[in-house]
Amino acid sequence: MNENMIIKKAYAKTNLFLRTVGKRPDSFTEIETVFLPVTAVRDSLAFSFEKSPGISIRCTDDSVPCDNRNLCWKAAEKYYEKACLKNKGISIDLEKGNPVAAGMGGGSSDAAVTLLAMQEYYQCLPEEELFSLALSIGSDVPFFLKNTPCSATGRGEKLTPLSIKKTIHFPLLFAAPGFPVSAKWAYSHINWTSLEEAPVLSDAVKGVEEGDILLLKNSLRNDLQKALLKKFPLLEMIFSRFRSYGGTPLVSGSGPTVFALFEDEKAREKMFEKEKEYFSSANIRFFKG
Ligand code: ATP
Repeated sequence: MNENMIIKKAYAKTNLFLRTVGKRPDSFTEIETVFLPVTAVRDSLAFSFEKSPGISIRCTDDSVPCDNRNLCWKAAEKYYEKACLKNKGISIDLEKGNPVAAGMGGGSSDAAVTLLAMQEYYQCLPEEELFSLALSIGSDVPFFLKNTPCSATGRGEKLTPLSIKKTIHFPLLFAAPGFPVSAKWAYSHINWTSLEEAPVLSDAVKGVEEGDILLLKNSLRNDLQKALLKKFPLLEMIFSRFRSYGGTPLVSGSGPTVFALFEDEKAREKMFEKEKEYFSSANIRFFKG
């Protein structure tokens, strides 16, 4: 392989817990969340570092813009600016595997991986600078620099890696309908008057750290989901299908992807085998996480 090329994978995420705490003066929403990396789906990115200046992107998915709206572009532009490397250039080949605008952070993950690849190649910025560039691109981008289970507050950037005492693979199933939902829409439709006190962040954190599936099942929360379920009846239908197999469903991030946590592998496998054809015929991506 060419020494001016770096290849990386960009994995997805979900939020096992997402509590909206309040509106901030900067118009972002203060949240408490638990991020879980999802490695079952991923993008592949090939970065070629060029002698001539400029940024170019090619993408396998026509719905993803390849100009300065692409989060990889934003990441590259910001890195060059911050590192005073405006005479340098990069071309990025982006193979999308993550569902787009699906609440699984695909674009944010690409941005984080772009920053990491540029840092690997140029080694120009201290870690704190890389982190603040990440946050200036999007609230979820700092998480993807770490890409390990974390709890988070603030906009989702005050990250605490979870201290896992018992490593287990949580049996999850994901259903990603083919339509996009913008995070902006989801965050502007929170019904602030109907939010509950429980479940609480510390229980979700404990559930993950101790590998306690039952505790985690009872601690799943997403304050964005009420508006999404109301707007998209298909999501309610997916919820009841998951429930009928014993799964506890939750909208992933800002949706529309839905996932469910099962008590064990056997329960998850049963649903997967019985329902995969149905989901495929309904054009819903159905995969294990
Ligand atoms: P999040 O959970 O962070 O809100 P998401 O999974 O809901 O993310 P993304 O896949 O990041 O959403 O895409 C959101 C929007 O960003 C899309 O409308 C898309 O056009 C645009 N976008 C910009 N860059 C990318 C990228 N590299 N990959 C996917 N979408 C991108």
